[in-house]
Amino acid sequence: MRAIGSRGQLALEGGEPAVRQAVPPMYPGGLRIGREEEEAVLQVLRSKRLFRYYGPGTGTSKVQELEKAFAEYMGVGHSLAVASGTLALTAALAALEVGPGDEVIVPAYTWISTPAAVAAVGAVPVIAEVDSSLTLDPAAVESRLTPRTRAIVAVHMRGAPCHMDALMSVSERSGVAVLEDVAQACGGSFRGRRLGSIGQMGAFSLQYTKAITCGDGGMVTTSDRRCYDRAQMYHDVVASQRADLPPEELVLGIGCRMPELLGAVAGVQLTRLDGLLADLRIRNAAVRAGIADVAQSKGLELRAANDLDGDIGIALVCFLPTAERAGYVAKALHAEGVPSGLLFSRDQPDYHIYYHWTPILAKQTWSRLGPWSWPGADVRYDREMCPRTLDLLGRAVQVHVSPDLSAQNVEEIVEGLNKVLSAAL
Ligand SMILES: *Cc1c(COP(=O)(O)O)cnc(C)c1O
Repeated sequence: MRAIGSRGQLALEGGEPAVRQAVPPMYPGGLRIGREEEEAVLQVLRSKRLFRYYGPGTGTSKVQELEKAFAEYMGVGHSLAVASGTLALTAALAALEVGPGDEVIVPAYTWISTPAAVAAVGAVPVIAEVDSSLTLDPAAVESRLTPRTRAIVAVHMRGAPCHMDALMSVSERSGVAVLEDVAQACGGSFRGRRLGSIGQMGAFSLQYTKAITCGDGGMVTTSDRRCYDRAQMYHDVVASQRADLPPEELVLGIGCRMPELLGAVAGVQLTRLDGLLADLRIRNAAVRAGIADVAQSKGLELRAANDLDGDIGIALVCFLPTAERAGYVAKALHAEGVPSGLLFSRDQPDYHIYYHWTPILAKQTWSRLGPWSWPGADVRYDREMCPRTLDLLGRAVQVHVSPDLSAQNVEEIVEGLNKVLSAAL
C-alpha cells in the first residue's frame, strides 16, 4: 500500500517509483518469436536446403519468398535480402554507383553504420545538420551539395519519417540520388507512401533491436531494375556470372547473402509487422494523450513530426529548455522506472551522434589510402561542426514505447512522466 500523499513525490527525492509493473525490453519483433518462426526454421532444416539458390528436392527458397513479400509490403518492384543493415546500405550505395571521389550527405544524427557504409564503398561522408524532427534538415542538405555529391542518405530516426517531399525535391533539382535508411522505421510511411519506396533505394535492418528481426540481417528495396541487378551482384560474388546484363556492366561484389534459416525467421516476422505497428501506435498515442495536459500547461516541446501518421511509434521524444534540465528529467524518469534516456551527452560515447564517430572524424582507414585520400577531397570534420544537432540532441529525452506495454505499464509510465514534467518545468 502506498502512503497517501507520496503519489506526487519524485522517486528521485524518496517518493515511490511510479512504474511498479516490469516493463518489457525493447526487442519488438524479437519478443514475439513464436511457433510460426519455429515451424519455418524446422521446415528449412527438414528440407536440408540451407542455401537460397539450391539444395536437394524441389522446395522454394525462404529468402526468395521473403524478398517477394517484402517488396510487396513496401510497395517497390524489387527487394534483396542481405546479411545486415550496414551491408544493405553498402550494397545500395554500390548499386547507385557511389565510390571513390564521391561525397554522400548523411545526417549528424544516425547510427554510425550510415557513414561507415559510405566509407566502405570508398566515398566521403559529408555530415549535415538535423532539424527539430531529428531527421535531415533539407536546407542543410542543400547547403552541403557540391559537384562531387553523389547521394543523400535520408535516415528515418527513432521511427519517424524524414521530410521526403523536401528531400526528393532537392534530389530532383540536383540530380543526386536519395537512399532511405529505414533501419529504425520499418513499416513507417510519409504521406501514405511506405518508407524505403520513395527514394531511388531503401535499406533496412533486421538486427535484433529493430521492429522486426532475424537476429542479424538487412533488406534492400528499389523499383529500379538496374539498381536491383547491381545490388544483387554486390551481395553475391557469383551473381555477375548469372546476371542477364551486358558483359561491360558486370562487376564483382562481396559475399553478404542471407542464409535460408534467417530468411525463414524474417519471413514470419514480416507477417507480424502490421500487428506490431498497430500495438506500437496505440500505446504511443496513449502515452501522448496521457501527458497532453501537463505538456500543454508547461509548454513542453515535442519532437516535430513530418508525418505523425507515418511514425511507427517506438519512441516519444521531447526537448527540455536546457541540457541541464534534460539531464535532471532523465535521472528523475529513471528513478520512476520509466523506460527512457538522454539522446546525447558529451561524456557518454554513443555511435548515434557524429560527435562520437571517432574513426570517421579522424579519417581512419584500413589501409594507407582511403576515401579521404582522393585528390582534391577536402571535407573537414570537427566535433562542434553541427551545433544545432548537438543543441537539439543535448536537450532531448526519449521514452521507449514497447508494443507489449500492458495497460498498467502505460498508466504508470504516464504517471511517472506527469510527475517528473510537472516538477521539472
Ligand atoms: C541499426 C542501424 C543500421 C545498421 O543495421 P545493422 O543491421 O546493425 O548493420 C543502419 N542505420 C541505422 C539508422 C540503424 O539504426
